[in-house]
Amino acid sequence: VNPFYGTVRRTARLSAGLVRLTLQHETLHSFPSTGVGDEYVRVHFPDESGELREPRIDGDNWVFDGEYPHVQPYTVRRHDAAAGEIDIDFVLHGHGRAAAFASAAKPGDRLMFGSPRGLYEAPEDVGRCVFVTDATGIPALGRLLEQLGDHAHALAVVEIAEDGHQIEFESAARLDVQWIVGRGNGVAPSAMTEVLRSVELTDDTYVWVAGEAGELREARRHLRHDRALSATRYKVIGYWRHNVDEWLSRWNALDEETTRRLRDVFTEVADQEQALDIYDEQLERLGL
Ligand SMILES: Cc1cc2nc3c(=O)[nH]c(=O)nc-3n(C[C@H](O)[C@H](O)[C@H](O)COP(=O)(O)OP(=O)(O)OC[C@H]3O[C@@H](n4cnc5c(N)ncnc54)[C@H](O)[C@@H]3O)c2cc1C
Repeated sequence: VNPFYGTVRRTARLSAGLVRLTLQHETLHSFPSTGVGDEYVRVHFPDESGELREPRIDGDNWVFDGEYPHVQPYTVRRHDAAAGEIDIDFVLHGHGRAAAFASAAKPGDRLMFGSPRGLYEAPEDVGRCVFVTDATGIPALGRLLEQLGDHAHALAVVEIAEDGHQIEFESAARLDVQWIVGRGNGVAPSAMTEVLRSVELTDDTYVWVAGEAGELREARRHLRHDRALSATRYKVIGYWRHNVDEWLSRWNALDEETTRRLRDVFTEVADQEQALDIYDEQLERLGL
């Protein structure tokens, strides 16, 4: 797949902690949006000199000579095929290269990305939607809520670092939004699993959870094992990781046999949720 590009046309502060970049490019007229509310792309950021590294295309793979570029997943908040535009909303969390790019972005800056992928998969018969997330899930939540019809009931619980990080959501659904201020988001322990423990789950509920990967291991375990939800009734997605460099160096220090065993779990165990149980348990045992 050839890359898609986006040149920053506009920037807009949505809150003290969130900036929207509107990207435009001729390749975006044919961007294959899935239409799924939480669809994301793997965004390639410029290197230190401000240049985007161009890949060599080798079948389905992009190959880079030398160091791999900085790449992070970001939600496609809006796609307008006619205008050749997409919006991406960036959390200004103050540490990483993606966040730094977004806070300094100005018209003319460029990004590159591949095809989108959506994860939200509510069954047809869903009557009630429960969304629990931190600031990184606000863009996906915004788009998911916009897509709900007026027959839907939705509860959205959003954990943010500060009061000034709240935004307005639009939805035709009967919507209850609850903000939890000063938890998670790298500023304090997350309350997400706590929130899930107290949430009412009816037979027609679908639960979508996005946030810090370590915290979500417990959140997923709660939904799957304590609450015995069927895998079609929830989606738990790790959006970022605390001290990711330290975590990666511990991952990279694992011997080859261990990493091969971990990766093989997903091909050897057909039920992918069961595979995830085994994978999580093994990672935990390895202190990861
Ligand atoms: C499917 C998907 C969709 C996503 N959509 C969005 C989106 O629309 N908007 C968005 O802002 N993010 C989104 N994210 C999360 C985003 O990819 C991560 O936050 C990413 O790590 C940011 O990259 P970085 O280069 O800024 O920081 P990194 O280089 O990854 O990390 C540097 C340091 O910053 C810390 N850090 C990273 N993210 C956060 C955070 N959110 N809060 C506090 N500390 C953090 C890390 O722990 C690390 O110590 C999404 C993630 C996924 C998987």
